[in-house]
Amino acid sequence: MNDFGKATAVDFDVVVVGAGFAGLYLIHRLRNLGFSVRAYEKGSDVGGTWYWNRYPGARCDVESMDYSYSFSEELQQEWEWSERYAAQPEILRYIRHVAERFDLRRDIRFDTRVEAAEYDQPSATWRVRTSAGEQVRSRFFVMASGCLSSTKMPEIPGLERFAGPTYHTGLWPHEGVDFSGKRVAVIGTGSSAIQAIPEIARQAAHLHVFQRTPNFSVPAHNRPLTAEEVRERKRSYPQYREQARHSYGGVPVAYNQQSALEVSAEERERRYRELWQRGGPFLQRAYADLLIDRAANDTVVEFVHARIGEIVRDPRVAASLMPKSHPLGTKRICVDTDYYATYNRPNVTLVDLSDDPIVAVTERGVRTLGQDFEFDALVFATGYDAMTGPLLAVDIRGIDGLGLRDKWSAGPRTYLGLATAGFPNLFMVTAPGSPSVLSNMIVSIEQHVEWISELIASARAGGIRSIEAQAEAEDGWVETVNRIAAGTLMVQANSWYLGANVPGKPRVFMPFAGGVDAYRAICDEVAAQGYRGFELERVEIGEVRMERVVG
Ligand code: NAP
Repeated sequence: MNDFGKATAVDFDVVVVGAGFAGLYLIHRLRNLGFSVRAYEKGSDVGGTWYWNRYPGARCDVESMDYSYSFSEELQQEWEWSERYAAQPEILRYIRHVAERFDLRRDIRFDTRVEAAEYDQPSATWRVRTSAGEQVRSRFFVMASGCLSSTKMPEIPGLERFAGPTYHTGLWPHEGVDFSGKRVAVIGTGSSAIQAIPEIARQAAHLHVFQRTPNFSVPAHNRPLTAEEVRERKRSYPQYREQARHSYGGVPVAYNQQSALEVSAEERERRYRELWQRGGPFLQRAYADLLIDRAANDTVVEFVHARIGEIVRDPRVAASLMPKSHPLGTKRICVDTDYYATYNRPNVTLVDLSDDPIVAVTERGVRTLGQDFEFDALVFATGYDAMTGPLLAVDIRGIDGLGLRDKWSAGPRTYLGLATAGFPNLFMVTAPGSPSVLSNMIVSIEQHVEWISELIASARAGGIRSIEAQAEAEDGWVETVNRIAAGTLMVQANSWYLGANVPGKPRVFMPFAGGVDAYRAICDEVAAQGYRGFELERVEIGEVRMERVVG
């Protein structure tokens, strides 16, 4: 235990919420720095999103040799990824391997939710209460609860009336589900649905897909990795990872600096085809202005519409599948295997809800304005209360009992996406205001964990017992995040980036859209300037002296 000057005794230096990629690395890093850590995890084992998302077809849309930790050279050399895009079971095996290799489970309490955390200003500590009835006190409290871990059911009347089984993609039964011979409905057509639909269609007697808004999807072209590819990447990993840390999205790719409108139609077509053939999410970065200029974006929209038209045989179904309401890349682009081709199967029906919305779930199935459908099972692929949902699920109270839910009632406000004024010694990993969901999550998680751990270590070294984001620094950061987002087309879509999928949620663009490289530079500069924008409270013998570090 570290006393951080003359401080109140604590049970742990740091309490962490979550044992996914972020929580596990926090435990490892903080432990190596000599801090005592306790993590709480609502699941029965490690893995976070990869523990819960076991729906058929679940797979990461970032390539496996990018979507993995870089902090340990031994780990990245010894682990063998089998496919270009790893499926959920393989990612979960990897996370378990990490937990075992670094002996992380002993600091985690599973099957335990953190229900409330309250800051005690006189002692500058957090009192944390769990669903197991445990109360612990810690100096620091870190939310590593993920961005997409609060599942969301749709607001459809009668959900409880359906007589058969219902599933949410984000809470899939661990034993799997056998849809053989069953009439199945999938509600939703986001990333989860787009992966699950081809797999369910292969099993079910008949599958109906209920689509409210079509999404853009690009083929993954997934395949086994060759021994040569793996060897080559492992050989160059140190440089490659460094490039990833200093890239826009956490994956080193060469971005085209040209405008889509300054090249000929033939050249554009060639480039889009090249990226379509390559597979994965990079189509949206084909030209520098795709996410900032609607006319430029229209060219890539037209390209994808043409591909859908080529793949899907029934022209009416193809037309329904073509997204028209938002520019490409303004909602998370989907990455699929056989998604559009699945609609050529005789046992698959697309129900276009644009003119005929769902009005109720009934005992036997789904009712739209115009029709009744009967099913044996319903699959909700209806997404998440993203980013703020997992943070606000815990009753977090800062100075003078201020609730985070109240502070953020008009939308999340953070400094650097790492801290929020009024809540000293609370840190958040990949929260609103950080690149998080717009980036390769593992790169962002590592950067956050390292930054937070270094801050905690320097607090110990300097006898600092509390660290709080200053309100002015936070106002400036919120303004920066909004300004960058407003310069893109991303604010035009009704996406979960803006909270648009949750009725009543304030419409605020949550992630930092300036890129991981620029973001890292800002965080590093803040640290180098003695944590500019944070107020540090130093404990002196017999007195408490406030130290302001003004940026
Ligand atoms: P999502 O993108 O939010 O999609 C939810 C879907 O449900 C949308 O199509 C939505 O339609 C529909 N929906 C919601 N309420 C409805 C209602 N009342 N009636 C009809 N349809 C309704 O959720 P998700 O697919 O779970 O994906 C969330 C995020 O998780 C992704 O964007 C991605 O970041 C991540 N993810 C990643 C992967 C991967 O790595 N491959 C896989 C899965 C998920 P509207 O669009 O009309 O609202």
